Amino acid sequence: MALWNPWHGCRKLSEGCANCYVYRSDARYERDSSRVYKTGDFGLPLKRNRAGEYKLSPDGGVVYTCFTSDFFLEDADEWRCEAWDMIRLRRDLRFLMITKRIHRFAQCVPEDWGGGWDHVAVCCTTENQDRADYRLPIYLEAPIKHKIIICEPLLGPVDLSPFLNESIEEVVAGGESGPFARVCDYDWVLDLRAQCVRAGVAFTFKQTGARFRKDGRLYRVERRFQHRQARKAGINFTSKKALNKN
Ligand code: SF4
Repeated sequence: MALWNPWHGCRKLSEGCANCYVYRSDARYERDSSRVYKTGDFGLPLKRNRAGEYKLSPDGGVVYTCFTSDFFLEDADEWRCEAWDMIRLRRDLRFLMITKRIHRFAQCVPEDWGGGWDHVAVCCTTENQDRADYRLPIYLEAPIKHKIIICEPLLGPVDLSPFLNESIEEVVAGGESGPFARVCDYDWVLDLRAQCVRAGVAFTFKQTGARFRKDGRLYRVERRFQHRQARKAGINFTSKKALNKN
């Protein structure tokens, strides 16, 4: 797995940000996460080793982009054009970014974006119904070649059914981690899965989060077991659409 964090720091925007992992990890070093800065890795996609090969060349090609910030953050407006330039040049990779700022997407893409670039996936977070109803109509309209809805941290039941059309490749759900994690209820997860199955959209239950409720019983789940427990539930769904693509 390859990571590229061209800038670091972010500003809290919605309920899903309350216990943001960037803020939590920065707090350990008494760093202020609201101070946004360009990282030393900014130019990573074009850096080469002594043999002249790109340093960023992961197996499978997926580059998780801007995971300690939000790619469409206002504070990064002056740097984003250059980041797009690098992404444009690395069509051998697949860039995947997750945003809570899809409302800024249209003003943040380069002129030659057109109907989207094949090698860029822009994922939209919807942590509750309110944010789903606001963000997903914008997301559905946006020219993006690869769309994934991220319901993480899942903070309540969410009806995605009006938004699950053929442009959505996958829905990912998961709970919240950390000492102040809010509860994630298994019924909410199962309900999302059922919506995806009905719509023929792939579904992944990524992690339980730290406080997981199942059958009315609340469990504290240690960090190292959160992904494992979700996998053990065995509820991931691969749509025929996704199978046909592979
Ligand atoms: S948008 Fe993401 S990175 Fe930014 S504060 Fe919210 S959770 Fe953290």
